[in-house]
Amino acid sequence: MPHGLEVRGLAKSYGGVRAVDGVSFAAAAGRITGLVGPNGAGKTTVLNLLTGVDRPDAGELLLDGRPVETRQPHRIARLGIVRTFQSARVFPNLDVLDNVLVGADCGRQRDGATERARELLDVFGLGARARDRAADLSSGAQKILELARLLLARPKVILLDEPAAGLSEHETQRLADTLVAARDAGLTVLLVEHNLRLVMGVCERIVVLDAGKVIATGSPEQVQADAAVRQAYLGGQ
Ligand code: ATP
Repeated sequence: MPHGLEVRGLAKSYGGVRAVDGVSFAAAAGRITGLVGPNGAGKTTVLNLLTGVDRPDAGELLLDGRPVETRQPHRIARLGIVRTFQSARVFPNLDVLDNVLVGADCGRQRDGATERARELLDVFGLGARARDRAADLSSGAQKILELARLLLARPKVILLDEPAAGLSEHETQRLADTLVAARDAGLTVLLVEHNLRLVMGVCERIVVLDAGKVIATGSPEQVQADAAVRQAYLGGQ
C-alpha cells in the first residue's frame, strides 16, 4: 500500500523570520489533504521547500516511504511531484490545447495525448476554447488550464497553491469536481487554499499552520471545532 507524501521536521528561516518552524505532516496517497492557515502562516514556503524552489534549513520529504534526496525542481517533478503557483504559469502565445499538450511531453505520455487533453479541457469547461490563445483566457481560466496541463502528465502528487483564487463560483465547482475525480483515480493532492468552503468540501484531512508551525491536524469537523484554529483565524477575538 503506497504511503503518499510525508514531511518531517521541515524548517526555513528568512533573516530572523522562522517562516517554517519544524513542520511535519502526511498527505496520504489517493486523498486530498488541505494545508490551510492565516496569511503568512508559511503555506507557500512549505510548497517551495517541497518542490526545490527554495532550500530547507532542515527536514526531509518521503514519497511512498522513500526519502526524496534531490533538491532539484525538475528531478522532483520527474518523481511525479508537481505543483501550481498562486498565479498561473501558461504559455501565453500557444493555444489552449497546445498548452495542455506540453504536459504530455513532460510526463512522456504521448500516446493518445491529444484525445486525453481534449477530455480534460471538456471536464474543465474549456473545450470550446481549445484553439484560443492562452493569453486570451481570464486569469481563473488560465489557472484551470495549468491544472489540466499538469494532470495530463499523470503525476503521483499534485501540490496546489490557492487554485481557487480568481475563479468564479462555477469554475470553483468544476475545480472541486475535478480534484475529486483525480483523487478517485489515485492522485495524491495537497491543497493550499483560502477558500475554506472548498477545503472543507473536498479534503479528507486538514493540516492547519500558524506562524510556521502545525497547530492542528484532523478531519474538517475536527479542525473547525479546534480552539487553537479558531484563535489563529480570529486573531484572539
Ligand atoms: P499567504 O496565505 O498570505 O500566501 P503563506 O501561508 O503562504 O501566506 P508564506 O508566503 O509561506 O505564507 O510566508 C511565511 C512567512 O515567511 C512570512 O512572514 C513571509 O513574509 C516570509 N517569507 C516567505 N518567503 C520569503 C522570502 N523569500 N524572503 C523573506 N521572507 C519570506
